[in-house]
Amino acid sequence: MFSVGLTGGIGSGKSTVADLFAARGVPVVDTDFIAHRITAPGGLAMLPIVAEFGPSFAAPDGSLDRARMRSLVFSDDSARKRLEAITHPLIRAEADRERREAQGPYVIVVVPLLVESGDWKTRVDRVLVVDCPVETQVERVMKRNGFTREQVLAIVARQASREARLAAADDVVVNDGASIVALTARVEALHRRYLALASGQEHTQRQP
Ligand code: ADP
Repeated sequence: MFSVGLTGGIGSGKSTVADLFAARGVPVVDTDFIAHRITAPGGLAMLPIVAEFGPSFAAPDGSLDRARMRSLVFSDDSARKRLEAITHPLIRAEADRERREAQGPYVIVVVPLLVESGDWKTRVDRVLVVDCPVETQVERVMKRNGFTREQVLAIVARQASREARLAAADDVVVNDGASIVALTARVEALHRRYLALASGQEHTQRQP
């Protein structure tokens, strides 16, 4: 199925934009949600994670001890790579399964680290970037997550730059304090374009 990879920095508005596509009947596959599911109690990643890192990385309920894992991978790059070697293929496989099962004209795949990690860019037909200034990201995430300015800036610094993300984009949604009305109009226009691309109309229209 025709797939659009939706990405953007933390707090750029990916979920907000994905919800607007979903409201138009477009199936949404969210790799963040999948990452949580595979590390929930009984999740697909938990046996291999415990085998690799030890049982102390599982919480009493069998889910990933996120705080413990976060502090390990924050300071240890090789541990991060070992974790990703377990989780990334599982996330890809689950996302592919959901894509195959999705019913709709095309599918939106939300991949927060699409630009940073692996081969996602080549696994979607089009890349849609939600863009906003860093200051807007900081304000939104401080409010949403109760983080400090420094905490948000540290996360932003580990992600791709705004420029790198825009360079990878086929389409951009500017969400710099845009009203929801303006955002909805932009999503509606993109939706029409994706419907045309998915059904091959665009190609037909280009014929003489
Ligand atoms: P992401 O999924 O990229 O981290 P979200 O969609 O969760 O970002 O948006 C971050 C926060 O900012 C949320 O609380 C969301 O409601 C808010 N937000 C996003 N876009 C807008 C907007 N155009 N106007 C007002 N609030 C917004």
